[in-house]
Amino acid sequence: MKTFNIDNIIRPNIKAMKAYSSARDEFQEITNDFVFLDANENPYETGLNRYPDPFQRNVKNELSTIKNYPANQILLGNGSDEVLDLIFRAFCEPNQDNVIAISPSYGMYSVLANLNAIEYRKSLLNENDFQPNIEDIFSKVDANTKMIFLCSPNNPTGEIIKKEYILEIVKRFNGLVIIDEAYIDFSTEPSWIEEIKNYPNIIVIQTLSKAFGLAGIRLGILYASQEIIAVLNKIKPPYNINQLTQQKALEILKDYDKIKLTTQTIIEQKQLLETALKEITFIEKIYPSDANFILIKVDDATNRYNELIEKGIVIRNRTNDDLCKNCLRITVGTEEENEKILSVFKLLSA
Ligand SMILES: *Cc1c(COP(=O)(O)O)cnc(C)c1O
Repeated sequence: MKTFNIDNIIRPNIKAMKAYSSARDEFQEITNDFVFLDANENPYETGLNRYPDPFQRNVKNELSTIKNYPANQILLGNGSDEVLDLIFRAFCEPNQDNVIAISPSYGMYSVLANLNAIEYRKSLLNENDFQPNIEDIFSKVDANTKMIFLCSPNNPTGEIIKKEYILEIVKRFNGLVIIDEAYIDFSTEPSWIEEIKNYPNIIVIQTLSKAFGLAGIRLGILYASQEIIAVLNKIKPPYNINQLTQQKALEILKDYDKIKLTTQTIIEQKQLLETALKEITFIEKIYPSDANFILIKVDDATNRYNELIEKGIVIRNRTNDDLCKNCLRITVGTEEENEKILSVFKLLSA
């Protein structure tokens, strides 16, 4: 039986350090009964003259209700990028530790590994079904492997990673398993956040950038055990989520029913797009997708990509990704946008 202990994976300097104590850490009760002369703020009202809540309690409480998950086991970041960077900094010793990630997958993991001087080990997905190769992953694990990155549904392939595979990795690995669920709201599979109570080495990452339609406010969400959240709270920049972002997030989260409707519309549009793409002769393969995009294999990706640009449509050329030769990634747009790309595809295949 493996034993997961956060003390074994936290970096010694992080364990020893003391957090910055902000004015709003030391005095948190924000009501009109007090005169606030503690943070060197400008007293004249602009609507934004005060520092924001460093722990974003209102946003977390709303998320907690929507996700049915404890608010004190959530950390928010300036996009997923920031929470991903924080976990590298908390748990991976530069020039010593390594992480493993499935490939192809999201490009930020390797960028952040490089930035933090952490060796990045890729484990190729199986070519036929884009599922992870468990034995290959574990053959790459050594005493300095701190994290394994999984992305489900995966970007750019679109598939959800099967539960049995994730569970095996979580159970066998002594370090942290990071499950990036940026696209989970488009999937019929449940989130892994409900398994955190059973497996304290799971960290789940979500975002308001995709299904919630708020890429512009930069809000990334990390769900983990209270011990992990405590470490990350200690090292995050004190006021990392600005007041405008907190206000907008709260407004949209309170209207969650509307989000569910647009998510459903996008899923329906994806199904229509998938069906219509089958008629295009130069498309050799349409990969199944649990996300809001579709990966297709074509005759010549770079050529087709350029042809689309000429017609005013921008998609992503993934031909240089592992296992993605001649693959293009298409984000599902509005009905009109999808009709536009389909009409261009038809024109090009005629
Ligand atoms: C889009 C995306 C994100 C979101 O990143 P943000 O910084 O929150 O906008 C995270 N992970 C994956 C795999 C993505 O595709």
